[in-house]
Amino acid sequence: MKHRRAHPYIRQVLEIVKKRNHSEPIFIQAVQEVLGTLGPLLEEHPEIESQNLLERLCEPERQLIFRVPWKDDVGNVRVNRGFRTEFSSVLGPYKGGLRFHPAVNMGVMKFLGFEQTFKNSLTGLSIGGGKGGADFDPEGKSDDEVMRFCQSFMSELFRHLGPRRDVPAGDMGVGAREIGYLFGQYKRLTNQYEMGVMTGKGIGWGGSLARKEATGFGVVYFANSMLETNGLRLDGARCIVSGAGNVALYTIRKLQQLGAQVVACSDITGTVVQESGIDFDRLRAVSEDERKHVDTYAGLVHGVEFREGRKVWEVPCDYAFPCATQNELDEDDAKKLVSNGVKLVCEGANMPCTPEALAVFREADIIVGPAKAANAGGVAVSALEMQQNAGLERWTFQEVDEQLQTIMKSIFNTCVHCADKYATPTDYIAGANIGGFLRVAQAMLSFGVV
Ligand code: GLU
Repeated sequence: MKHRRAHPYIRQVLEIVKKRNHSEPIFIQAVQEVLGTLGPLLEEHPEIESQNLLERLCEPERQLIFRVPWKDDVGNVRVNRGFRTEFSSVLGPYKGGLRFHPAVNMGVMKFLGFEQTFKNSLTGLSIGGGKGGADFDPEGKSDDEVMRFCQSFMSELFRHLGPRRDVPAGDMGVGAREIGYLFGQYKRLTNQYEMGVMTGKGIGWGGSLARKEATGFGVVYFANSMLETNGLRLDGARCIVSGAGNVALYTIRKLQQLGAQVVACSDITGTVVQESGIDFDRLRAVSEDERKHVDTYAGLVHGVEFREGRKVWEVPCDYAFPCATQNELDEDDAKKLVSNGVKLVCEGANMPCTPEALAVFREADIIVGPAKAANAGGVAVSALEMQQNAGLERWTFQEVDEQLQTIMKSIFNTCVHCADKYATPTDYIAGANIGGFLRVAQAMLSFGVV
């Protein structure tokens, strides 16, 4: 591995970012991870420094924070905090999901919006970067409570949205049900049926086939490209997947379709180990239909070992897929995986590996698929949903899936090309950061200082 030099300009921008965002360590982590790989570009492109592109790129274009009052089922008035980080619109309207989770704060929104900007750039499509959400915990809330919350949330956010302005979608805690309530309220407030204002919609009212599957399927398509390039195979391999939400579910699905054995999965309740392979249909029903956790799945299925409160990373595997949340895989987990012989780690969640974990993988020459490239399939199909909405079209599952495969392949090729040119051939992390950055940077330069 080539040593990554810290260029003086990058050091200077990092200092500014740290000072300006000192209470948001997660955002600083995301910035550090990207800027740390951009050094090799600075000699070839002096305009990055002369136009101070990096400092400009690290400051979101606009950040919204708003009060979300709502009434619970017993009549108490509750208050949450809503957010939208409109990070970058140089490549298209702000695009990115909404996350409803108690741990949401401005730092989390900014880290996700920052990542989204590069991810969306890598897709090659016309979408800028944004992210939003609220510190609302959907866990244990009734359907009516979720509906009232979504309506209140949208009553403020709607004025900032539009198919050519800002286009949200789902993320953790925001799925088909929430998108329905949010879109319904948007439609009522604006008195317009603007399908392209949100993605992840229901299939009967403007949603795209294969959007639900897209992130997880894309993760596996990307992993498969990495494996093939490195002379490895998915067929017959032992895989483990963390998480049991949308990304994890459809990662498991595609891994199984391509012949891999998914022997373990996990969520906040613990880890399920099933040597015969996870039963996708059961897991999907428990997670998607019943909104329950893997402990429920473990109680329903025969021949399953449930490890309460334990992480999945202690289960020996060939390939690991962190698909739960940020910083879920730390240095100790990485060491455990390496000592158990892992050969590839492909990130399905946004920034799931800590910097220390990534250092362990780097040291051990483990192939790592970075989230901004590997999980870009979801937002890519969101852009295809926008395209279908704009043309009043409806594409088949197969058509969308084929386009998804083409996009994932092109993202992989960008990563390889940039890794090869600016870092080392298998440094897909540097490749993704540089590939994503270059397109955004070129657009910013074209627009001048705005
Ligand atoms: N939340 C997803 C992501 O992290 C999807 C965003 C979208 O479809 O706009 O990329």
